[in-house]
Parts: sequence; C-alpha cells; structure tokens
Amino acid sequence: MMPAKEQIEQIIKELQQIMRICDWDIELNYLSAVEMYKKTDDIHTIANCVRSRAHHLATINFCYEANKTGEVVGGWYNTIVHEMFHIFIDGFDYAANLEFDHGDYSLPKERLICDISRMFVSLYPVSNFDRILKPEPFTVSNETIDKACKKQGWNLE
Ligand SMILES: [Zn+2]
Repeated sequence: MMPAKEQIEQIIKELQQIMRICDWDIELNYLSAVEMYKKTDDIHTIANCVRSRAHHLATINFCYEANKTGEVVGGWYNTIVHEMFHIFIDGFDYAANLEFDHGDYSLPKERLICDISRMFVSLYPVSNFDRILKPEPFTVSNETIDKACKKQGWNLE
C-alpha cells in the first residue's frame, strides 16, 4: 500500500541522517499523475528532484499514483532513495557538470544512482520503517465508548 505523505516525510528525515544530508531542507511534493504531468510535461516521469545548491533546498516531486508498490521496479521506497541520492551527490554532480558536456554525463550518472539506490534498499530495506508505516492499531477502551454513548443518550444494554 502507498504510504501517506506524512509517513514518507518522516522516512525522508531519517534517511537524511543516514545519508548525512541533514544540512538540506527537503520538501516532498506528493502529486497525482495529472499533477506530475503538468509539472514535467513528461508522462514517464514518476519522480524528480529540483535543487537549489546555494540554499540547500530540495523538492522531491513524487507521483504517488505511479509509485504504488509493484507498478515501478523497486517500488516507492526505491524511488525516494533514488531521488535522495541525487541530493547526496549534488556537490559531485556540480563539479562533474563543469568538466563534462551534460549530455555525456547524465546517463552514466542516472545509472550510478540506480545502482547505489538498489544497493542501499537491499542493505537497508523498507522494513526498517515499519514503526512509521505500520503504527499500532487505534484502539478505544470500553469506558470511552460507554461515556460517548451516555453523552449521546444511547443505551447499548
Ligand atoms: Zn535520477
């Protein structure tokens, strides 16, 4: 099941610590397929990451409809990790862009990020976030139910 935006935001915060990129403000833009298409003009984009190097601000545009588990190789977790590795290599990316023609460099860069993301996901699987993704079921005591019923004037005897 697709996690809620708030759950993914919490996971991003924890991944930032692991990846040592806490000096970035990362915003999650949780978009439908239509919203994503309007933003990128490309029906194949399932996520991207827009960065402001000077301010260490990053926005991950994430299409929740395209990232439902099973529809994309690796699922939503791999997608988030992938976009976060773009932030991770931002400094390297900047330096490399000065050295290479962007066209020559962007394909091997994507390949590298795909490989390290998959490696990361297998070393640090999504089950590490079970406490965020599978919170304790919400329970209400009988006492609370009784009180609420009395307040409503209901008699459930
Ligand atoms: Zn990428």
